Amino acid sequence: MRKQVIAGNWKMNKLLGESEQFIDEVKGQVPSADQVESVVVAPFTALHSLVQKTKGTDVKIGAQNMHFEESGAFTGEVSPEMLKDIGVEYVVLGHSERRELFGETDETVNKKTHAAFKHGLTPIVCVGESDEQRENNETFTVVENQVKNALEGLTTDQVKATIIAYEPIWAIGTGKTATAADANEVCAHVRQAVKEFAGEEAAEAVRIQYGGSVKPANVEELLGQSDIDGALVGGASLQPESFLALVEAGK
Ligand code: PEP
Repeated sequence: MRKQVIAGNWKMNKLLGESEQFIDEVKGQVPSADQVESVVVAPFTALHSLVQKTKGTDVKIGAQNMHFEESGAFTGEVSPEMLKDIGVEYVVLGHSERRELFGETDETVNKKTHAAFKHGLTPIVCVGESDEQRENNETFTVVENQVKNALEGLTTDQVKATIIAYEPIWAIGTGKTATAADANEVCAHVRQAVKEFAGEEAAEAVRIQYGGSVKPANVEELLGQSDIDGALVGGASLQPESFLALVEAGK
């Protein structure tokens, strides 16, 4: 049985005080980590404080990106070792906004995925097709290639520990959600692709989230699908009540 993982991606939102207030409001109320993994994916500036504030609670903290190198002349970048050093446990990699706006590629996502495992971070690897690709019936091919490229060279145990987030680009921040059946069909296809390159055991263990305008009103139906093991949520993760409703649905 795969445990659901609900991750709130705050993107470039919330000042430090607002972030801390959010954590103060939710940390005593999220379900036990034995039942559901509740992750807050915060901006870099809040990470250290939020890790301190969530120690001993059931809230885990993730970063939204990182570089794949350990250190060096990469002005403006943050390394996996730096995240690990302050107690961050998860890192989102290859979000479509990073791919579209900041030149992230399958190759850099693959390097970052390897770097995450090297430093004991759990990667949440994002994949998903554009509107145009969906119209051209390319969804399966696009998503399958992104998954294979991102996970290339990982050991079976690493593949098992990876979280894949299927996020159709046309559904992110638009209010348009894939139907639960459509989302599940693509997630099942992703699992099949994992089976082909990493074996059945890895495919059964790997967790696949859906992301794209998930909110309290639609989360239960999505999480009820056979191949959806959680959600990566932007807008609806910014309010404490809404975040709590989402993680509650993951129990
Ligand atoms: C996201 O940021 O990954 C996302 C899915 O955003 P939203 O839930 O706002 O569509």
